[in-house]
Amino acid sequence: MSSAQRIVQVAVPSPLPRTFDYLPPKSGALPCLGARVRVPFGRRSVVGIVTGITGHSLLPAGRLKVVQDVLDPGPLLPSDLLNLLVWASEYYHHPLGEVVSSALPQALRKGRPAVAGDVDGWTITESGRARLGDARPLRGVPARILHALAGHGSVADETLLAPLSSRWRAAVRSLVARGWVSAVPHDCLVRPACQVVDVPVASEAQTAAIATITGGTPDFHCYLLHGVTGSGKTEVYLRVIARILGSEAQVLVLVPEIGLTPQLVDSFRQRFAVGIAVIHSGLNDSERLCAWLKARDGSARIVLGTRSAVFVPMKALRLIIVDEEHDGSYKQQDGFRYSARDVAIRRGQREGVPVVLGSATPSLESLHNARQARYTLLPLPERAGQAQLPTVRLLDLRRLARPDGLAPPLIEAVHDRLVRKEQSLLFINRRGFAPVLMCHDCGWFAPCPRCDARLTLHKAAGRLRCHHCGSDTSVPVVCPVCQGSNLRGLGEGTERVEAALAQIFPGASIERIDRDSTRRKGALEEKLGRVRTGAADILVGTQMLAKGHDFPNLTLVGVLNADQGLYGYDFRSGEQLFQRIMQVAGRAGRADKPGEVLIQTFHPEHPLFRALCRHDYSSFADYALQERQETQFPPFCHLALLRAESPERGSALAFLARARSIADGMELAGGVTAMDPAPSPMERRSGRYRAQLLIHAVQRPALHRFLVQWLSLIAETPLSRKVRWSLDIDPLDMH
Ligand code: ADP
Ligand code: ZN
Ligand code: ZN
Repeated sequence: MSSAQRIVQVAVPSPLPRTFDYLPPKSGALPCLGARVRVPFGRRSVVGIVTGITGHSLLPAGRLKVVQDVLDPGPLLPSDLLNLLVWASEYYHHPLGEVVSSALPQALRKGRPAVAGDVDGWTITESGRARLGDARPLRGVPARILHALAGHGSVADETLLAPLSSRWRAAVRSLVARGWVSAVPHDCLVRPACQVVDVPVASEAQTAAIATITGGTPDFHCYLLHGVTGSGKTEVYLRVIARILGSEAQVLVLVPEIGLTPQLVDSFRQRFAVGIAVIHSGLNDSERLCAWLKARDGSARIVLGTRSAVFVPMKALRLIIVDEEHDGSYKQQDGFRYSARDVAIRRGQREGVPVVLGSATPSLESLHNARQARYTLLPLPERAGQAQLPTVRLLDLRRLARPDGLAPPLIEAVHDRLVRKEQSLLFINRRGFAPVLMCHDCGWFAPCPRCDARLTLHKAAGRLRCHHCGSDTSVPVVCPVCQGSNLRGLGEGTERVEAALAQIFPGASIERIDRDSTRRKGALEEKLGRVRTGAADILVGTQMLAKGHDFPNLTLVGVLNADQGLYGYDFRSGEQLFQRIMQVAGRAGRADKPGEVLIQTFHPEHPLFRALCRHDYSSFADYALQERQETQFPPFCHLALLRAESPERGSALAFLARARSIADGMELAGGVTAMDPAPSPMERRSGRYRAQLLIHAVQRPALHRFLVQWLSLIAETPLSRKVRWSLDIDPLDMH
């Protein structure tokens, strides 16, 4: 190979953990680092990102293929973002090509030009609807398009229309010309609201937190804003942003779920007269592309997004905020298993900008970092304004009956709220009517045919559904074992609680909020709207209700199945349980009316509940951290979990046993230990048998070195091709 020969290294979406070498395109011009190229890959042609230009390849030049097309004239991904992706690929031991492609909007992944279209999509007009009702039927492509738009309800983009005909663009143009369809002009940025809101006077604690964050040198530092529920963390974010947002600066704000907290977007709109890009899973391809491009070119000054927004390029990033940093949805649970919170911290470090983590119930990892003085702890110990923390009382289920899951003191408390025209929230972490359908003659209960789990009874729908694999059957009339007809739901879910409340309080208006009742687009917003306007008296719901909501008239929270997870197999069960209950309890009494929380439990003496009654997260954390230290779990060690699954019983375990013996043959330094492989807590799921192997390490660099070597040896074993397997770094759930 001549010394002048240049080789283009390309990350392509492939499970192989390396980049691929290509010769420059025929034109001879070298693509930029971070630009997309189209390259031949196997028998296909794929879109990849240029990650390097070198002078040599391991392959002889004769075997190298040529870049077919350069899709971006400049770098699509700025170098600091590309470097972050390379870091993430190495840290999570996930192929760079897949990491890069998960950071790109779908439109760019498909090779579309990196420019935002001038229309977002199309809607049907009134006269378009009238035309459909006309006696003379419309025919052909225009008719199909008009019908599709009429049935769609919201703005439709080309993903809806393109499948209808190859000539859909021309047809849409003529429909627009006739006034039956209107093109929605393109604007993916949320514009500032016209009305100006009253800005509260910051409390002393808020002022101190703001001063600390904005007073430091503008460099990387991690702050942990530990503010009790209702302490006004959002106000702190807003004021810090206001100080940092100069004429060019950009801020990245990560939140667990945007659909659940429309109020948050509003408070940003009301405070800042700048373009805000909101990035979440509900965007269509063109909206997502537009938001991404506006973040990249700097015109979106605030980027508010869920997990994946941590990889959005930003021209002038000056601050990162991670709200509810403890929330599990920051961790991607399949494919590229990254933690957006941890990546955010790393991004802040690399780009030299401060990172603010906020929570009423910080993860033990973050709290530990604060206690070790790696992060600066900023406490907001009291609620904002006139609000007080709610009183918390335990209802001892050993002494109380609870028909349909509701103990009498809880029913009484709901009754009081109805009389006082205040709202109640009943939290139960289970949807459906009952988690089990049981035969009261012979003891049979309905199992899922594909999982080690029971089917949940959905009474209104008349179905038995598995919440793990989605299997869905009708409710049997008689017991399949004894033919008896004494089949009944055992235990309770949201549907049963809602039905019981409707009987007890026939005049009350009840809103059930769970995944079943909010499946229809817009249903959740409508329900939350009714709660906010006061039309709803009682809310029954799952953890969808636990997060971020601020309902001023809600004064009672009842937790129905608090014990779920109390003695869980996972070392994080206790932490997650505490966080869940404290968050949902935090919905009570957030304005001037005092709040009350009633927790139903069989273990009122448990230290976790004792600490909950005192709103004492710190003493719970003391206790939990000590336990973690004694048992050597994070944050006192580092974990990696190798998971495997196979439709054949035993294969996953055999593979892991092989992996374990490979580890035994390696030199394990730096406190790296491979545990015994074991079946997953729910061994069979969706017809696959699952197992896992935990790697435990005292030092992260040693863990990393071990994993690189171990994974390459594992990949060479024949068994590794017979099972599906994946590695999870810093696993959040051990199943
Ligand atoms: P958190 O996110 O900490 O649970 P929020 O940011 O939702 O709390 O704030 C709770 C409520 O307190 C909001 O209605 C907010 O407008 C109000 N609030 C925030 N700061 C102040 C303050 N300094 N004085 C009065 N009210 C405040
Ligand atoms: Zn039976
Ligand atoms: Zn199932």
